[in-house]
Amino acid sequence: MTPDADLIIVGGGPAGVMAGLLFARAGCTVRILEKHADFFRDFRGDTVHPSTMEILDQLGMLERFLAESAGLHEHRGPLLVQLPASHAFDARVVGRFFDGLRSRHEGPVVCEPRHVSWLAAGADALLARYQVARVAPDPARAPGLERPGG
Ligand SMILES: Cc1cc2nc3c(=O)[nH]c(=O)nc-3n(C[C@H](O)[C@H](O)[C@H](O)COP(=O)(O)OP(=O)(O)OC[C@H]3O[C@@H](n4cnc5c(N)ncnc54)[C@H](O)[C@@H]3O)c2cc1C
Repeated sequence: MTPDADLIIVGGGPAGVMAGLLFARAGCTVRILEKHADFFRDFRGDTVHPSTMEILDQLGMLERFLAESAGLHEHRGPLLVQLPASHAFDARVVGRFFDGLRSRHEGPVVCEPRHVSWLAAGADALLARYQVARVAPDPARAPGLERPGG
């Protein structure tokens, strides 16, 4: 039997489909075998994690994802900008980031900083200027961050 693809991937979940995409982009012909004919199983995918968005961006698919998910209208939740604990507030960096984000996405955005410097009055004012709410996480990484802001 002659194989009809360079590569056969078994399983059409996120890992299989992503591997298929990357191999196809590298010039391979790929066939993905998935045992299910539909998606009618346990509901998944209510949250698209920040790390997933980062990967979509690296793949050049973030704009398309934002455009297609806009079809959910009010059912699409906010975008969460979740920052590592090491990211201290820096008005210039934050302004540049939200300028870029707001040029691509008009909908609701929430931010979860984890560094105490984000409690400065200037930080709240800057978030408010971009219509970004600061989330009130539980537990909070630093005292004061359990209160919402922005
Ligand atoms: C209830 C639930 C809710 C979740 N919600 C989220 C969420 O909101 N956001 C998020 O990021 N993650 C969520 N996850 C986690 C996410 O679903 C997994 O991280 C992700 O599906 C893992 O991808 P995968 O490709 O490794 O495996 P899978 O998604 O399990 O994909 C494996 C695929 O292989 C197929 N397969 C298996 N054996 C064979 C075979 N012999 N032949 C052919 N096909 C086969 C399976 O049918 C399946 O489609 C959720 C998980 C669960 C269980």
